Amino acid sequence: MVFTIDFKNKNFIVTGGNRGIGLALTRSIAQAGGNVSILYRSSSSAPQVAQGLEKEFPRQRFFAVQCDVTDQKRVGEAFEEVVQGFGKEGGLHGVVANAGVAIVKDALEVGGEEFDYRTNVLGVFYIAQAAAKYWVKTKFTEGSIVVISSMSSQIYNQSALNEPLRHVFYNSSKAAVSSLAKNLAAEWAPHGIRVNIVSPGYVETEQSGVHAPAVRKFHEDSVPLRRYSQPKEQAPPVLLLLSEHSSYMTGSEVFVDGGMLIW
Ligand code: NDP
Repeated sequence: MVFTIDFKNKNFIVTGGNRGIGLALTRSIAQAGGNVSILYRSSSSAPQVAQGLEKEFPRQRFFAVQCDVTDQKRVGEAFEEVVQGFGKEGGLHGVVANAGVAIVKDALEVGGEEFDYRTNVLGVFYIAQAAAKYWVKTKFTEGSIVVISSMSSQIYNQSALNEPLRHVFYNSSKAAVSSLAKNLAAEWAPHGIRVNIVSPGYVETEQSGVHAPAVRKFHEDSVPLRRYSQPKEQAPPVLLLLSEHSSYMTGSEVFVDGGMLIW
């Protein structure tokens, strides 16, 4: 088998696909010939992002659907809109559950509302469940779900040597979502649905832009490759896991962390 990734006539959903890592994933799927529906929460520029991609890749289909992934009813409606948007014959081939939030706050101060497992865990579950239900209903046996977790599923981030970053909600939510994905992989394997995880290290986006320069410098110095990742460097493993080349991979967690987990 020649190792090329060809997503021509294939349809994908990327949650949070309008900016940051999600946008890099959307663009990479587009470059491989695929069509993408971007699910976004509230950025008013998301429809323009999709329109820009349609201009750049005129033979392909891109559209943005507003959908807060914490709202299960809305997730169901959004899936209907996506399937209609791709056309009934088109179907759905893969889903990237990328949307997520982070907060840096002392564990003594953080409140229940800020402890947003609803987005980072439940939202991923709602999206994955909606995709799996659709594939079971349509008897499609090659569906692939990629969950964007974090190297924080394994470690406790620091802001300086032996100084916690105060990421108690975020790190625990990523440990939970990695476990969630492995459970789903096991349950849905008999349906031919694969569920895998890509866990980035430090990536240059708005989410990581909150760190003070000294914290960022500490992070960069801690990583064996000595720098943050660009969003597009997260895309190749995601495309691989969406493609038929990873037909024997499910329940795996791929770390794209510049070597950080060596330590
Ligand atoms: P950004 O903050 O740049 O973008 C977040 C995206 O998620 C936006 O598109 C946002 O939509 C969307 N989103 C957030 N909440 C919801 C929701 N409730 N419903 C629908 N969409 C939502 O994040 P990154 O690109 O940095 O991160 C993407 C993923 O990668 C996250 O899961 C993050 O935890 C993970 N990650 C990031 C790392 C980093 O260093 N940046 C490191 C490791 C993992 P909108 O624009 O409408 O607000």
